[in-house]
Amino acid sequence: SAQLDVTTFISSRRHSGTIALIDASSGRRLSFSDLWRSVASLSSALSSSHSIRKGDVVLLLSPNSIYFPIVSLAVFSLGAVLTTTNPLNTPQEIAKQIADSRPVIAFTIRPLLSKLAATSFPIILLEEDRISEDDSRIVSTIRDLISSDPIQFRRPEPVMQDDPATLLYSSGTTGASKGVVSTHRNLIAMVQIILNRFKLEGDGVPETFICTVPMFHVYGLAAFATGLLGSGSTVVILSKFEMGEMMRAIRVYGATYLPIVPPILVAMLSAEKPLPLGSLRRVLSGGAPLSREVIEGFREKYPTVEILQGYGLTESTGIGASTDSAEESRRYGTAGLLSPNTEARIVDPDTGKSLPVNRTGELWLRGPFVMGGYFKNPEATRSTLDAEGWLRTGDLCYFDDDGYLFVVDRLKELIKYKGYQVPPAELEALLLTHPEITDAAVIPFPDKEVGQYPMAYVVRKAGSGLSETAVMEFVGKQVAPYKKVRRVAFVKEIPKNPSGKILRKDLIKLATSKL
Ligand code: ATP
Repeated sequence: SAQLDVTTFISSRRHSGTIALIDASSGRRLSFSDLWRSVASLSSALSSSHSIRKGDVVLLLSPNSIYFPIVSLAVFSLGAVLTTTNPLNTPQEIAKQIADSRPVIAFTIRPLLSKLAATSFPIILLEEDRISEDDSRIVSTIRDLISSDPIQFRRPEPVMQDDPATLLYSSGTTGASKGVVSTHRNLIAMVQIILNRFKLEGDGVPETFICTVPMFHVYGLAAFATGLLGSGSTVVILSKFEMGEMMRAIRVYGATYLPIVPPILVAMLSAEKPLPLGSLRRVLSGGAPLSREVIEGFREKYPTVEILQGYGLTESTGIGASTDSAEESRRYGTAGLLSPNTEARIVDPDTGKSLPVNRTGELWLRGPFVMGGYFKNPEATRSTLDAEGWLRTGDLCYFDDDGYLFVVDRLKELIKYKGYQVPPAELEALLLTHPEITDAAVIPFPDKEVGQYPMAYVVRKAGSGLSETAVMEFVGKQVAPYKKVRRVAFVKEIPKNPSGKILRKDLIKLATSKL
């Protein structure tokens, strides 16, 4: 039967000399035909020399690099399953993930070898240089495999659309991180929906993407997969986020599309001199809420750049809702309209009943991007995904009369004050409207009498003399009494993860360590 993996389904520009990948730090370029030749050689070598078969899990532990997409596409074309991990994770965190995913082989870079200390599977180095003899697990380098001859390659088993393609771990900001299995069908749907919603194809203007969001996360995967498999765009890769580097890459390569997370947008906005964004047509903000001040400020400063928003979860392969025009993003606070091919319900978390428009409840999603399930965890799968294919997002949301989605907060992050539920995101958005506050995070503070009350961590503008009481009064005047912030601490910076989410666990630890 036919091969239906994601790389064969969408394969624009497979043979063209158009540039597919650029490494921003070295300036190295790969055309689409170079890319696909490398992918074919690597799949062939993985299959013939390393016996990688359909269903085998392959670990990729690396910062963003040209090799990230090459390895991913080779793994997909074999029907093997790509698992990734954040290079900043500790060896213990990585060991836990490995014990769950059980990879048969890993790709990594030399500086990260120490993070795989306790493992015995073979390792392929994502480096050009020859194998050093110091680690017996290193079986090859990427260069050796990519330059091998792909001719003897025989596909062992056909790959179908419902076969697993990726095993990504959710960031674990609200609980234990879980392995999310996405299928080839999920990835194909993701690429098609992003192209369609953000009009990244079809208007005749070639796009150049900047990929600085981490590729180990669904957001980065979506960025490079959309460019390489869908629109045939050039993807400029930055190994990590650094403002100067990002600006240089935008200018030098004439970037048109920049997918980022809210904290980067905030940093762009607070730059002293106007940034040279000349070629840029669209900035996508996703992964966490974006405040009205930032959208307005950005629009005023850079009127030629369109701000898009995307809402999604690892469990929905990054897809769910998005804004697709200036008009929509002006409906401040909305995460946009549902993606095409998507059904949604707003469900009362207590009764399980569907709620009408303008009422807040848990968002349930159904569509071709909804994960296959959690890896080897039927219990967690059952409580998140029902038999009819509905995914419980864990997000409290409502739809307005015109079908625009508003994300109020995450169910698990609600603060419970005397039985009332206080959404920290609402208080954070309010705090950010204060002219002397540049960032804020609200956490539950434990209290014997009331259960929990909202505590705010606040970053003040340089030189501001704002006091704790002034902050509490500012909020108190604008919210119902049960939502009042009852404790304030000033900090230099709010801790956030790579997808821009506030690390509430760290702040809760900080707040309660002094008790
Ligand atoms: P875990 O489930 O293990 O805690 P996580 O949910 O942080 O991990 P992700 O899949 O990266 O891992 O995050 C998805 C969540 O991010 C969504 O459920 C939602 O709460 C939030 N989110 C994503 N995009 C947006 C957006 N545009 N606006 C508001 N929130 C968003």
